Amino acid sequence: MYEMKIYNTYTSSLEEFVPIHENQVSIYVCGPTVYNYIHIGNARPVVVFDTVRRYFEAQGYNVLFASNFTDVDDKIILKAIEEGKTELDVSNFFINAFLNDLRSLGCYTDYLQPRVTDFIQEIIAYIDNLVKKGYAYAVDGDVYFRVSKVDEYGKLSNRKLDDLISGARVEVNLKKESPLDFTLWKHTETGIAWNSDYSSGRPGWHTECCVMIDHLFHEKIDIHGGGSDLVFPHHENEIAQSIATNHHELAHFWMHNGRLSMDAEGKMSKSEGKVVWVKDLPGNPLSFRLYLLATHYRSPLNFSYDHLETYAKELDKMFNTMSSLNRTLDLSDELEECKVIDSTLVGLRTRFDEAMSLDFNTPNALTELQALIKLINQLLRQKKEFGLLKESLTLANYMMSILGIKVEYTPLTKEDKSLYAQWEKARAEKNFAKADEYRALLQDKGII
Ligand SMILES: [Zn+2]
Repeated sequence: MYEMKIYNTYTSSLEEFVPIHENQVSIYVCGPTVYNYIHIGNARPVVVFDTVRRYFEAQGYNVLFASNFTDVDDKIILKAIEEGKTELDVSNFFINAFLNDLRSLGCYTDYLQPRVTDFIQEIIAYIDNLVKKGYAYAVDGDVYFRVSKVDEYGKLSNRKLDDLISGARVEVNLKKESPLDFTLWKHTETGIAWNSDYSSGRPGWHTECCVMIDHLFHEKIDIHGGGSDLVFPHHENEIAQSIATNHHELAHFWMHNGRLSMDAEGKMSKSEGKVVWVKDLPGNPLSFRLYLLATHYRSPLNFSYDHLETYAKELDKMFNTMSSLNRTLDLSDELEECKVIDSTLVGLRTRFDEAMSLDFNTPNALTELQALIKLINQLLRQKKEFGLLKESLTLANYMMSILGIKVEYTPLTKEDKSLYAQWEKARAEKNFAKADEYRALLQDKGII
């Protein structure tokens, strides 16, 4: 295991990662509100934290990973009314669509996926406790969190309480004691609602993640992740509730990915009509994954189709090299993985791991993978012995599976291998008629 360093938004510094429990990492990432397809900006945290999980696992950690579905929200209710469906129909549809997008981006889908509608009673109990402790108050069926009770408020987002209050004054809500107080429970007249002691209504957005983390992990977690747009107010509000309930900041590390924008002003809002949906990305969606990983996760990223095209070509090159490598080794029954001992290859792997261990520096890690691909091409051209090729395949599979772009290769059957050998023999003997015949057969089978 490498010593890892991670940038912690909570302390604004790069810190050594020490897990709460040895060899174990708990990660929670705020998931989508499921009223629409996801756009490429929504996909960034998904790819980033999938890669984080993959690296921890490759380092030998047991990773407990959870990300929620917000299936209670005004936008879902509106969509349900518009389409004459239930809220459940709408959210189920877009949860499926989301999981399809995840698969297309090479992300794992086998993580814990709590839904708000499955936690309503737990959320109500959590709010009751906050009210009992004096951290929350009810007014006309609504419940608000009393921000002034939490001294640490503003620490995550590096903001002063006074600045926040003057900034929040624009929004006038006479029910609230302070403009910073946020909604825990909302009395509602339209859409899906649940009964509580306060009113018939539904929970506000900021409580669900706290409740789900408490119920899934039962304690402070190692890493809480999300997009930088969630730092304030969402994550600040999560921390405030957790301090009030459990006397801790919910997570040891707070990780945030930078924004993905589409224009010079750095915006990609749906109202501007410039949304690019993941499902509409041209070509192999893995080229978008590669594009994302070529920039450090904390840096802002300005999307362009030209850049996407560049990474599509890059991905093609990698896949072609890996296909030739797999095929070459397969034809000689040398596909199984082996120990990497060659000093050049060990150097590449060390630099790859060092890059990933220093705050998940995927652009530097990618540079090492590209160097390896170049080396494999040279080895294939030189038709060297299989030892180095086998080690290269092992190493490439290791790097590519951490980055989530591993090429799946299906070994040839015995029959196909002998056909291939006959084709090569015919070519060597300059029996072109026979060679053409074999080539046609191999092409029909999609082997060449
Ligand atoms: Zn959240």
